[in-house]
Amino acid sequence: MYDPFGDVLTAWFQNNKRDLPWRHTRDPYKIWLSEIILQQTRVNQGLDYYLKFISEFPEVQTLADASKEKVYRLWQGLGYYNRADNLMKAAKVVTENFDGKFPTNFETLKTLPGIGDYTAAAIASIAFDQKTPVVDGNVYRFLSRMYGIKTPIHSGKAKKEFWSLAEELMGNQPPAQFNQALMEFGALQCVPQNPDCKNCIFNAQCFAYSKGIVADFPVKKNKTTVRERFFYYFVIRQQTGNSEFFVLRKRGEKDIWKNLYDFPSVTLDKPLNDALDALPLAEKEGWFTPKDCEIRSPSTVYEHRLTHLKIQAVFIPVFSRKALSADGKNSLYLVARSEINNYPVPQLIVRYFHDRDINY
Ligand code: SF4
Repeated sequence: MYDPFGDVLTAWFQNNKRDLPWRHTRDPYKIWLSEIILQQTRVNQGLDYYLKFISEFPEVQTLADASKEKVYRLWQGLGYYNRADNLMKAAKVVTENFDGKFPTNFETLKTLPGIGDYTAAAIASIAFDQKTPVVDGNVYRFLSRMYGIKTPIHSGKAKKEFWSLAEELMGNQPPAQFNQALMEFGALQCVPQNPDCKNCIFNAQCFAYSKGIVADFPVKKNKTTVRERFFYYFVIRQQTGNSEFFVLRKRGEKDIWKNLYDFPSVTLDKPLNDALDALPLAEKEGWFTPKDCEIRSPSTVYEHRLTHLKIQAVFIPVFSRKALSADGKNSLYLVARSEINNYPVPQLIVRYFHDRDINY
C-alpha cells in the first residue's frame, strides 16, 4: 500500500529547511565536523563553531596536524571536550590509515574515534546516500508522539525500536534527504514545548495529538541527578613593572574540564559562611601566604551548570606583594595578562574575565 509519509515529509523539508552550510555539501569531512559540533549543541550556536573550524581547518589533514591548544581554543564554549579530543584522534586516523579519505560505509566509519551509530549513520546517509536510518533526539520526540511509542528513550530497546521504524518509514526515499527531513521536522515543527499541532501536516495521523497527550512524549526513564559543588577560586596576581601576571591552573586528565585552564581553587560539598574562610585551605596547598598578599573582597556567587553538576563559584582576588613562581609544577602557570587569551578556559572563567574587563 502506498504510504505518503516520506513524500509529505520531504516536501515539507524542501519548503521549510534551514539554509545551513553543511546542507550544501556531500563532503564527509564537513558533514562529520557538523555532526560532532552539533551533538549537545543548538544549531545557532554550533553554526559559528562550524564556520570557524572549516575556515581554520579546511581539510581533514589540517585538523590532524593542529595543536591541541589550538583546537581547544576554537572549541571553547561548546563543553564536552572529549568530543574535541575525538575530533583530533579521528582526523589523525583518517589521515594516517585511510589516506585522508573518510571511509564510505557505516561499519568502517564506526571504527573511528568518537563515531557511534548515530554519527556513522548520518555520514553514511548524507555523504554517501546509504540507506542507514538516523535517529537523534528530535526524531525520538517526533516519532514517539506520532506513533504513540511509550518505550523510554535512552534505552537499548528504544534504540532498536526507533531505528527500525525510521528505516521502515524511509522506504525508497533518498536517504540523505529523508534523514535530514526527519531530524529537521522534529527540530522545527515537533518541538519539545508547545508544538503548533493545529498547523502540523501530520496532525490527522498523530497519536499523541489525537489523544491530547503530546506533553507526555517522549517518555524518559530517570531524571539525571544533579550534584551541587562550591568552588572557591583564588585569583592570584602579581604586578611586575607594567605587566600583570595571573596564576592559572591546568586541569588534569580526569577532570570535569580536563586540559582547560582556570585558577587554583578548593571544592567543597557545602558553602562556607564566609568565603575568606577558604584562605587557610589555599595556604595549606602552598599557593600563597596570606600575610604576603593583599586579599580583596570576594566576588558575588557565579552559578554554572553542567549536565550532572551545579557549581556555585566565588572568586577571591589575591594580590601578591612577593614575586611568584609557577612554572607548571603542580599544574600552575604564571601567565601575563596579555597572554591569557591564548589559554582555553571554561565558560565560567570567561564570564569572570568579561565581568572584570579582562580581554578574552
Ligand atoms: S501533531 Fe503535534 S505532536 Fe504530532 S507530529 Fe505534529 S507537531 Fe508533533
